[in-house]
Amino acid sequence: MSGIAIDEVVRSRRKTIALVVQPDGRLVVRAPLRTSQKIIEAFVTSKADWIEKSRQSQVARRKFFPKRHFAAGELFWYLGKQYPLQLVTPQRPALQFHLAYTLDEKFALQAKKRFELWYREQARLYLMERVQYFANLYNFHYQQIKITSARTRWGSCSARGTLSFAWRLIMAPPEIIDYVVLHELAHTIHHNHSPSFWSLVQTMVPDYTAKRKWLKQNSHQFHWD
Ligand SMILES: [Zn+2]
Repeated sequence: MSGIAIDEVVRSRRKTIALVVQPDGRLVVRAPLRTSQKIIEAFVTSKADWIEKSRQSQVARRKFFPKRHFAAGELFWYLGKQYPLQLVTPQRPALQFHLAYTLDEKFALQAKKRFELWYREQARLYLMERVQYFANLYNFHYQQIKITSARTRWGSCSARGTLSFAWRLIMAPPEIIDYVVLHELAHTIHHNHSPSFWSLVQTMVPDYTAKRKWLKQNSHQFHWD
């Protein structure tokens, strides 16, 4: 016996055993079709330290990214400021923003989806405007703008000049958004992070190192769960 509870074994045509500790702490084992229970348990036992560490870091992560309940009074970011949520009687659209968020209480269970859609739309409008503005100002050429659900990167630039931005970026302060926009526009000239790329960024954002640091230190606030 491994002494470590296995919550689920998923068998497939894979060749090796892999362990996944899910956000709620459940241990899922992915195993090849014919692996015996005995081998799976021995494998789990050999990874006891790793499993324990993963569970601890999941707990820490939950504290770090506080869970959203979409309850009245909860604060939500928009352009670097936080605004409270109010639950209200029926209204269309169900989620509205006038220096506070008002959500039709009948849509409370869909709150997360409603917020995402709202953020996504604001991000699209705001970023299109900022990209166009800076492209004109500095004479950059780009193809199109995409809004993504990326969790770990704020923006990217494809070889063909498509600029992608995470919708979560709209939660950040305007000067941080501008830095990300200029960073991606600079990639339309230099498709790398070479010294010439950074010196181009610096001509447009002289304190870009402070902006990068700010993003590293604060981006956890713009995650949902
Ligand atoms: Zn980059």
